[in-house]
Amino acid sequence: MKELLQENLSDLNLDKQTQDQSDFEKYKNVFKETRQLGDIHQSEEIFTCIVKIVPQIVEFSGVGLVEKEQYSDSYFLKKEHHLDGELDKHMRRLERSGCFKWVCESETVSLIPPAKELMNAKPVIIVPLLTGKKIVGAVVIFPKKKIMELNYKDSELLALLGTQAGIALENARLNEEMAIKNQVLSSMRSYLENSIESVGEGIIAVDSDGKISLFNSSVRDILGVECDTAIGLPYKELFDPEFVIFLDQLFESTLTTGECQEEYSYQHPVTKKLLPLEMHATILHDTEKKHVGAIAVCRDLTEHQELYHYRKLDQLKDEFISTVSHELRTPLTSIKSFIEILKDMETSDPVSRNEFLQIIDKESDRLIQLIEELLDISKINRGEMNSEISIVDVDNVCKKSMLLLKGVADKKNITLDLKLSDDLIVLSDENRLIQVFVNLIGNALKFSPENSTINIWSEQIPGNNSLQKNNYLKIAIQDEGIGIPKDSLKTIFEKFKQVREDPSTKPDGNGLGLWLCKQILLQQGGNIWAESERKKGSTFFFTLQQPE
Ligand code: ADP
Repeated sequence: MKELLQENLSDLNLDKQTQDQSDFEKYKNVFKETRQLGDIHQSEEIFTCIVKIVPQIVEFSGVGLVEKEQYSDSYFLKKEHHLDGELDKHMRRLERSGCFKWVCESETVSLIPPAKELMNAKPVIIVPLLTGKKIVGAVVIFPKKKIMELNYKDSELLALLGTQAGIALENARLNEEMAIKNQVLSSMRSYLENSIESVGEGIIAVDSDGKISLFNSSVRDILGVECDTAIGLPYKELFDPEFVIFLDQLFESTLTTGECQEEYSYQHPVTKKLLPLEMHATILHDTEKKHVGAIAVCRDLTEHQELYHYRKLDQLKDEFISTVSHELRTPLTSIKSFIEILKDMETSDPVSRNEFLQIIDKESDRLIQLIEELLDISKINRGEMNSEISIVDVDNVCKKSMLLLKGVADKKNITLDLKLSDDLIVLSDENRLIQVFVNLIGNALKFSPENSTINIWSEQIPGNNSLQKNNYLKIAIQDEGIGIPKDSLKTIFEKFKQVREDPSTKPDGNGLGLWLCKQILLQQGGNIWAESERKKGSTFFFTLQQPE
């Protein structure tokens, strides 16, 4: 500033030797106060300061501050000091005449003489307010005395005031604009923050260094993060290592593909419950399309899955009721129609009569079996199928089951070849084990051709670690029947699933036997599965634990 002072002193050609000391003091004061304008940031105060400086250069009866509109050539009175009615009118006249525009564009402090018709009016001094080439406005001074011309020094001082005040006013305007923009920005920010906070989904954003830049309360709740100051923390420090690996992969794929959606089973750190999470991540760009991080929306799918589960259950129940009704109706219709035939039949045809009675008998058995199986299903579903586990001799149980099926085997001349050693014991419920054997051997008989053989054999599987000490017994029932297609090998263990060679003919049975076998064996710590080759036969295996 010292240099500027010297420069301005020389600009004004002040000859320190000769100039009047009081002029020099005046100049120094004006210069000092003008300089201080740079420290003021409010237009109100700037004007007060101008009003204080001007009388040191020229005495006035009124001062006005006109500002140029940003995007037009209009000037409007922004502030005034002692502008009474006459001066105000004068001011408006100047405004209308385009005087401000003309003086400001000339960038020169000007003394404007009064219009000819206003005989008593005094001239006006207009000081352009400039920042470089930009016009900010003008200070309009109504001198107290009638002056005919401005001396050079006063004119230079006023020009200096115009420049300093112009810069200060422009800065003040920019500050005010900035303050308004900041206010708009901060209200937009708080609007956005409120919106993000009120979203039910969890939202987490990270910058390119992996530091968290956004973390709403939903994500805090879903992930059970108790830290209040997640913002600014690297996400690697906030979560357990397994979830961090998942997030690393998610963000990495997002970088290559732009967006990415993955599911993750998240263990809640407080409740320890496993939550099915769906995370959808997208890349964040700045205005120049540079990657600045990623944002992920996190949804807890628990409710969604529960809803899906209940819907599925409902659907299964409906399907079950419809299948059961169908299964019940078929034998009942058959029984009913044969009874009708028998009612009208000649008593003299005992052969046909006997045949029909046998059909009725068979269909009734089928009905009884279906109802028994349904009762078993219901018991299993209610968790009431209690097995009385004891040490059971497998060979003995198998022989008892075979005896029950002897009639069927003899009818088809099928050999049941039992190769079980007689000292094999397992932990099982004897009656339930008979049910398993009867179903599996019964199926083998049903799907095998006449004169074939069914082999029943076993294999011991030793317990392989300290947790599983018990030995297992694997029992196989192998037939030479029609076989089962590969894609049905798993589904046949589901309820009502039967293999249909011809979609129009339904195999004998209800499709419940294997499901029941599986439930019985699972309950006793065993399992069941099948291997098969079409037209060559099937082997059903099941396992049971042996006592230690
Ligand atoms: P069901 O025999 O009463 O129909 P299961 O649940 O016992 O019911 O058997 C389901 C289906 O599995 C049968 O309908 C049949 O299609 C197939 N299946 C079971 N055992 C055999 C077997 N030994 N050979 C060929 N198919 C079989």
